[in-house]
Amino acid sequence: MQNIAVIGAGTMGNGIAHVFAMKGYSVHLIDISQDALDKAVATITKNLDRMIAKEKIDEAGKTSTLNNINSFTDMSEGVQGVDLVVEAATENVDLKLKIFAALEEACDPNTILATNTSSISITKIAAVTKRPDKVIGMHFMNPVPVMKLVEVIRGYATSDEVTSTIMELSKNLGKVPTEVNDYPGFVANRILMPMINEAIISLHEGVAGVEEIDTVMKLGMAHPMGPLQLADFIGLDVCLSILNVLYDGLGNPKYAPCPLLVNMVMAGKLGRKSGEGFYVYTKGSKELVVAPSFA
Ligand code: NAD
Repeated sequence: MQNIAVIGAGTMGNGIAHVFAMKGYSVHLIDISQDALDKAVATITKNLDRMIAKEKIDEAGKTSTLNNINSFTDMSEGVQGVDLVVEAATENVDLKLKIFAALEEACDPNTILATNTSSISITKIAAVTKRPDKVIGMHFMNPVPVMKLVEVIRGYATSDEVTSTIMELSKNLGKVPTEVNDYPGFVANRILMPMINEAIISLHEGVAGVEEIDTVMKLGMAHPMGPLQLADFIGLDVCLSILNVLYDGLGNPKYAPCPLLVNMVMAGKLGRKSGEGFYVYTKGSKELVVAPSFA
């Protein structure tokens, strides 16, 4: 396996392209937005510079990584000749079904189609293709170059052969793959998102403020980031989508997204990527939002 297409050049897509390219794979990075592609290459360049400063790679490593990445705005063109597609487009079920139906037409029949979805059913995505045995979840964690885990999700029809290929490939990337089955939220988000939602409910009910909630969880539970900061980092729209998948898929009211989260997403407060969520992000630093609506 040598040629990889990554669909979506946002938060996750740029990190996935970075790790494959750094390990010598040829990466076709695909996005509908040229601006997103330009920003992704700029982010990868900045992250590689950071790795040089930490003496993890040298200048030659940076150059070869960047040379391994080619950008495309046309998906059919970008997937030509690839052995594996890793889809990391926006977390929206209709969009993903459309992309996978198009991939079925555009890709070689042997190409493995992986998705980085946080929560959408792999079985459902696989069902719009003629190769459900070759569709699999490859759930990287954010930030991809740093985080070790890849949650490898088997859909109902995913073959043993494809699962072991993706497990081995993840190890080659220096990651630790963990195999799980296809149920809403898989394992990572089935456990993480209810915790984030409960933190938002605690804020909404006035149990404590943003910093207090994050401090309790950081210092009390030894989490590197508090749940509200983490929600900003993931993207509040992504958190809301995942909670809706848990709520719809498991049919239990305990997964209902907090109304404050719904309001913030409707107001365009998406966390770090929009410049404001539970915190504001100006000039690369994080500050507390002083908003009476949080009380
Ligand atoms: P994002 O909003 O940062 O980026 C999504 C990108 O997809 C955008 O650049 C957009 O232009 C592009 N896109 C939309 N439609 C497209 C299409 N038809 N073809 C090509 N590109 C298209 O989103 P993200 O946070 O990178 O999330 C991407 C996926 O990764 C989602 O499925 C999400 O659930 C999953 N994920 C996110 C995180 C996280 O922390 N953000 C962690 C793990 C998994």
